[in-house]
Amino acid sequence: MSLFLTLCQQTIGAKHVLSKQDEMQTYVSDWRQREVGKALAILIPSNTEEVAALVKLCAEHQIGIVPQGGNTGLVLGSIPDQSGTCVVLSLRRLNRIRSVDTSNNTMTVEAGCLLAEVQGAAQQAGRLYPLSLASEGSCTIGGNLSTNAGGTAVLRYGNARELCLGLEVVTATGEIWNGLRGLRKDNTGYDLRDLYIGAEGTLGIITAAVIKLFPIPKSEVTALVALADVNAALKLLSHVQDHTGASLTGFELFSDFCLHLVYKHFAELPKIFESSYPQYVLLELASAETQEHTYSQLEFALEAALQSGLIIDVVIANSLSQSTSIWKMRELISSAQAREGKNIKHDISLPVSQIGEFISQTDALLQTAFPGCRMLSFGHLGDGNLHYNVSPPVDQLDSDFLLEQAAVNRIVHDSVHLHHGSISAEHGIGTLKKEELLVYKSPLEMRLMQSIKTALDPHQLMNPGKVI
Ligand code: FAD
Repeated sequence: MSLFLTLCQQTIGAKHVLSKQDEMQTYVSDWRQREVGKALAILIPSNTEEVAALVKLCAEHQIGIVPQGGNTGLVLGSIPDQSGTCVVLSLRRLNRIRSVDTSNNTMTVEAGCLLAEVQGAAQQAGRLYPLSLASEGSCTIGGNLSTNAGGTAVLRYGNARELCLGLEVVTATGEIWNGLRGLRKDNTGYDLRDLYIGAEGTLGIITAAVIKLFPIPKSEVTALVALADVNAALKLLSHVQDHTGASLTGFELFSDFCLHLVYKHFAELPKIFESSYPQYVLLELASAETQEHTYSQLEFALEAALQSGLIIDVVIANSLSQSTSIWKMRELISSAQAREGKNIKHDISLPVSQIGEFISQTDALLQTAFPGCRMLSFGHLGDGNLHYNVSPPVDQLDSDFLLEQAAVNRIVHDSVHLHHGSISAEHGIGTLKKEELLVYKSPLEMRLMQSIKTALDPHQLMNPGKVI
């Protein structure tokens, strides 16, 4: 046992320092089981002071730190590299709801609270915390903030950054910055909070946050709409926004191929439409009005869209269970594609107005380069965010197609760049997209980012090798 690990044990207790291979396995393995890193140890402190003491120890001994929440990140940011020289610092024991302020509509929570627990605590207080991801049973608030997570309600409420008012952070040198302010207006110099949000653990460790709460909507209505193409979906978005204003909380697009895979791998799921259509949109309206009022509002908007030929078919859920089935269909797309085999994934965003042109041009470029490749496109269309995944032709092995990953990425990301989009909408950079970042960020942007990194993490110990 090295002196460093003995000091860690003295700081947080021996049973919270894991250094045997089998104990470390889940902490060093990526969610999608693509990579397994190596760690010196896993450190699991229980409060902010313990985190600060551990960071100071790491700084003294020049040990790199990989902060980890639920380890559900999709860009290999939360696991260590192969060197075996870093520790993973898990925040999972910092899991207290510190306070709820219903007058200020805020809640102060520790970084290791699971998102689903935070949603539940808000609900118990008669409020809504609207961040919602398919991983909410496993991901943590600290991870959500560090990746600036998006999800299905961004259209109405914004992403994790917009839902956060204040932070508590252990800096890279082990000091505790208490920025737990519940203020909606605070123009007092540079916004440190916004630097740490979305930094993927490369600048410091988020230990607690003040998050925004909202009134719980009195009514929610879900509908599934069938359309001829993505352009019709974009027109439908404007049409529904014109009719329903801020009540539109979700607008999720998916293709028939996505739905086909969901029914193939989850045959127990009830069918919503008798026939197949090229594209589908899941819409959700949430409002302070009665259920009947919200239902009529959506019915009126969709009836007009049906009569004008903008949409081909529609089902408005008339029960909670039907609404749950429609959402389940959307949420199971990721699992269905995983069961089908491997594909090349892109988490991109574009100005909403460019999406139709982007898809038609990029699909055509990919078909020319890789005839027969199959597009698995779905995403949060209302936010301009697409999961634009490319599957191999039916007669090609996944492993052979994955050899083309760099060429596929180049076509897709060049096209994203041409259409003024981003190569990472919500999952972040981690190590997976680090090289791509260098291709598309300007040298000036990279230099400014590097100076922030050097200023806040002078010894380069925070999540080494990630993002920058
Ligand atoms: P981790 O995976 O543990 O860490 C993510 C990054 O944050 C790492 O770089 C890590 O070092 C850093 N980090 C973690 N905690 C801290 C901390 N306290 N302080 C500093 N740095 C920290 N993402 C979306 O945005 N939208 C989605 O709709 C979505 N859907 C998903 C669905 C599934 C099924 C899965 C598996 C993932 C999905 N994700 C989605 C990705 C993932 O769930 C999110 O990125 C989530 O916010 C990560 O939280 P986590 O606690 O698991 O963080």
